[in-house]
Amino acid sequence: MIEWFKRLFGIGTNSTNSYKKMVNLILFGPPGSGKGTQAAKLVDKYGFLHISTGDLFRYEMGNDTPLGLEAKSFIEKGELVPDSITIGMLKNKVQANPDVKGYIFDGFPRTIDQSKALDQLMESLDQKIDKLIALSVKDEEIISRILERGKTSGRADDNDESIIRNRINVYNENTRQVYDYYDKKGVSSSVDGLGTIDEIFTRLTDVIDQV
Ligand code: UDP
Ligand code: MG
Repeated sequence: MIEWFKRLFGIGTNSTNSYKKMVNLILFGPPGSGKGTQAAKLVDKYGFLHISTGDLFRYEMGNDTPLGLEAKSFIEKGELVPDSITIGMLKNKVQANPDVKGYIFDGFPRTIDQSKALDQLMESLDQKIDKLIALSVKDEEIISRILERGKTSGRADDNDESIIRNRINVYNENTRQVYDYYDKKGVSSSVDGLGTIDEIFTRLTDVIDQV
């Protein structure tokens, strides 16, 4: 009722003081599951802002910033960058881009604490996570995809099988439960991440168009 009223009269409590109907998605899945590839296609179709915390870290590392140097020590081992750093960086990016049709979060949240922080951030903007979509891909397929990507990505963490295996372990230990966290809120879905890029894209848009 309140949502309906706000939408009808175009009012709200966020910073711009106008209720905005945005669609906010988490693109979820293990490393190498195709999140970045699909996010780029979703941006073309829907005009959402793509926020990849991994890309943000690589930008900082490329510029040798203090944040980049700090992140690098974790990324080169395939470990998670600590929540306090990651959450702060994510908040800055979101708050710097308030006037968008929606956000696609890629590679974030990776822990339950990050999920709670994201929900609080969304609430502060009068927004919510509308959907989490997981790309489901088996471990062995992931490893071969990442090693293939490593030939051209220039990423040290894509070129060493033991680092890749550690990233998958971290995903299984710390990140997988983010799916259940949002499932309890009724917004998690999973699609088969195996197939052509266009087939997977259609699976994603079928879910998004129902939001
Ligand atoms: N990373 C992190 N937190 C994030 C995003 C990235 O700790 O929110 C680190 C982590 O070490 C991870 C690496 O950056 O292994 C690469 O992450 P990205 O999402 O870019 O790659 P993917 O895992 O999707 O291949
Ligand atoms: Mg990625």
